[in-house]
Amino acid sequence: MLGVRRLLPYLYAVIAVVLVSGALGLIAWLLHINRIETYWAIFVIVIGAIAWRYGRGPAIFSVAVAAILSEYYFIPPWGAFEFATVSETVRLISGIIISLTVIQFVSISRAHEVLTEKRKDLLQDVSPRILQSLDAEATLETVADATLTVIDYQHLRLYRWDEASERLVLFKSIARSPAYAAIDWHSMTFALGEGITGLAAKSRTPLLVPDASRDPRMIYPPGTQPIAESVLSVPMVTSDRLFGVLTLARLGAGSLQVDDLRLMEAIAAQTALALANAEAYSEAEQTIKALAMIESLKAGDTSQPDSEVDRSILQGLTDFSQADLATLRLLGEDDLYRVVATGGAKWPEGSKSAATGGPLTGADLAWLTDPRVNVYVGDPRSDGKLPEWARRGTERAGVKASIFLPLWVGQRLTGVVGLHWRRPRWFRGEQLGRLQLLAAQAAISLDTRRALEHERRRAEALGQLERARREFMQIASHELRTPLTVIRGYASMLEEGSLGEIPPSARQALKTLLDKSTEMRVQVERMLLLARLEDGAVPPQMARLDLRTVLHDALERVQPQVALKQGEVNVALADEPLPVIGDSERLATAVDNLLQNAVKFSTGPPQIDVSGQRTDGQITVVVRDHGIGIPPEARKRLFEKFYRVNDPGVQNVAGTGIGLYLVRQVVESHGGRVNVESEPGAGSSFKIELPAAPRPS
Ligand code: ADP
Repeated sequence: MLGVRRLLPYLYAVIAVVLVSGALGLIAWLLHINRIETYWAIFVIVIGAIAWRYGRGPAIFSVAVAAILSEYYFIPPWGAFEFATVSETVRLISGIIISLTVIQFVSISRAHEVLTEKRKDLLQDVSPRILQSLDAEATLETVADATLTVIDYQHLRLYRWDEASERLVLFKSIARSPAYAAIDWHSMTFALGEGITGLAAKSRTPLLVPDASRDPRMIYPPGTQPIAESVLSVPMVTSDRLFGVLTLARLGAGSLQVDDLRLMEAIAAQTALALANAEAYSEAEQTIKALAMIESLKAGDTSQPDSEVDRSILQGLTDFSQADLATLRLLGEDDLYRVVATGGAKWPEGSKSAATGGPLTGADLAWLTDPRVNVYVGDPRSDGKLPEWARRGTERAGVKASIFLPLWVGQRLTGVVGLHWRRPRWFRGEQLGRLQLLAAQAAISLDTRRALEHERRRAEALGQLERARREFMQIASHELRTPLTVIRGYASMLEEGSLGEIPPSARQALKTLLDKSTEMRVQVERMLLLARLEDGAVPPQMARLDLRTVLHDALERVQPQVALKQGEVNVALADEPLPVIGDSERLATAVDNLLQNAVKFSTGPPQIDVSGQRTDGQITVVVRDHGIGIPPEARKRLFEKFYRVNDPGVQNVAGTGIGLYLVRQVVESHGGRVNVESEPGAGSSFKIELPAAPRPS
């Protein structure tokens, strides 16, 4: 099958020749022409076409067929394979030679065209591969590999434009012949305009050197003999940015041609595009990384010690910037900036303290506070703005580039991060911007953390104080209670006369003694209850009770004080029981406090209304007075511990500010709430709501 297909072009060629011969024979017969040159001219064209279409083999075959046919039909004697004259023979032979020349010519140009086509296809294959890689290094690797598929080179050199040193630095060298492999191409870098590579970069146009050994522009590494080779250099440029130069070489003068140059131009353009893409991608990646880092900086873990946090923040900045050396200085309480963390891959182990330098004052860092000063220092040795301490330090450490990031919190310079590199580095504005952003976040995090720490320590101290106070209250109230009971006991016995008659002059004193000791007992009970509520040591004694009883007893207790001030109490209690589940003693204290306040904070004779009702499963107790009232701004804080209204009219009234706090604690611990309505000058109304106890089943 395959053999037949390969023979087909020969068949077509013969058919073409036979058809043309037939046509020519017919014309010759009609017009009586017998000049062989006429036919040969036509045959040559046909054979040229065959060579173009079917290739060299069928074309040569058709020459043979044409020669035989000519000899037989067109060369006298006609109809026989004989040569009548020498000149006819010469004509036939020269015709054959011309045909073969044409075939040769046609096949060469055809082969060239096929090659160019093939290269175009290959290029199309290569382009997406080049453009796909999002990493600059990977792009250059791909280019080196891909170029080989389209140009048969013996040496490829890929130079990158290093913005820091402003030189073309060899990134990749692929030698495919010992002539190139023996040379150390890496030892050479080019400035713009230097050598063929530098010239191509400077002019931004591709250059072809047909014979490098004779071209004075060609520069070889020191100690190398010029090579008889063709060289072409193509710059990689996109939107005015130079990324580097692709240089190809092939042994032999004239071995690389303009076609190769064009192909390389296409590859270089794509490479430049891919590099630009890779750069944009890495920019985006860096931004995302920076944002992620900002997030991680925000989430300050207070359980970590300060030194850990300082270190991890510096570590983050170092990882991000790939700095070789890094230091973090922070402002201490003594107003000095000390190194609190060091880092970087090249930080000398073990010489931590030696290399960091001593504490710095605000004056040492004053240069950083100038907003016009760029944080980036190209070469610390020669940079005029660097203060002496920084220059000395960086010089000792062999630093070639530094970034100093001030840590600002508002107007305060809280520290500085130093990032250093041992080789020259160049930073674009965006890169610096990102680092500054990170530093700003780090400054806030560190500061917040220290502020929090400060607060935490303060809160701890306060907590301790509070605990001490509680303990004291508990002990004090306990210790006061017993002697007070004894005092009251004897005072009552005296008053009742069970210890004998007392003179009338002492009666009043005795009464005052009793009153004051009652007041004191109330105060002690309160303190004790407060202490109990706060440490929760004694649980409430919950039982079902009728709140009316509690109210009743409390009213009785307050009666003497009301009477003393010639006031009166209006009581409106429900006829039905007011059942609640509660601790009667604690509820009594709550009601006592409200009643006592109503008496205390009435300037004239107290007018007090007390009501106790049941509505919709709620028991409501209201204690209302017509006293001095409470200013609106004080109402919110009324139930806070130790809060007392700052009112000149109330200053003479004794109190501790724990009464209402106790009321709220007790009521809320019973699942209820308490609130107040009041109008200054007109009076106040305290309302307690408690859940009614369900009916006993
Ligand atoms: P104390 O009575 O020991 O000062 P309280 O906690 O019972 O403490 O009350 C806190 C403050 O609330 C009082 O100092 C007073 O200024 C205000 N107050 C409480 N009850 C009344 C009231 N019925 N009328 C006006 N002011 C009151």
